Amino acid sequence: MANPLSEYRRKRDFARSAEPRGRRAPGERGDERRFVIQKHAARQLHYDFRLELDGTLKSWAVPKGPSLDPAIKRLAVQVEDHPVEYAEFEGRIPAGEYGAGEVIVWDCGTWQAEDEDPAAAYAAGKLKFQLRGEKLAGGWLLLRTRLGGRADQAQWLLIKEEDAAARPEADYDVLAERPDSVLSGARLDPP
Ligand code: MN
Repeated sequence: MANPLSEYRRKRDFARSAEPRGRRAPGERGDERRFVIQKHAARQLHYDFRLELDGTLKSWAVPKGPSLDPAIKRLAVQVEDHPVEYAEFEGRIPAGEYGAGEVIVWDCGTWQAEDEDPAAAYAAGKLKFQLRGEKLAGGWLLLRTRLGGRADQAQWLLIKEEDAAARPEADYDVLAERPDSVLSGARLDPP
């Protein structure tokens, strides 16, 4: 697919002119998309990991939350796509409703796929990416497993890549050290 901005960019030298280069087009290598991790005190506390892709937030429920330790693989159960606006949602889902309980934005920022075609990598069940958030950074891998689970609740593993942002869990547990909302500073009441 031709990049609609390629003609605009071809004519300009952005090192010399202050004109905007323009946000990278969807699908273009290096395209930056949003990510959010919501901490959700539902019946069981968990972390909802969401990556913007193809106009929605691809979503996984991570019962134990992300770990900065590459030796630790965290189960990530795929759930339904959420609208991109959900990335800003913080608040209480009323008792009796689906997902009842408090939600805070635990981390947010942008992500960049390492693959040329992130939609294809996602469909193939192996997505390598870089996160640029307030708490999480560096390389990560989401890998779909062949373990049980229904087709619409595929089980993936969320794994930190070995890099400068990696930390052994025994030295630093990011969930315990930085428990609060990056948007409001709100702290989840213990469920
Ligand atoms: Mn949830």
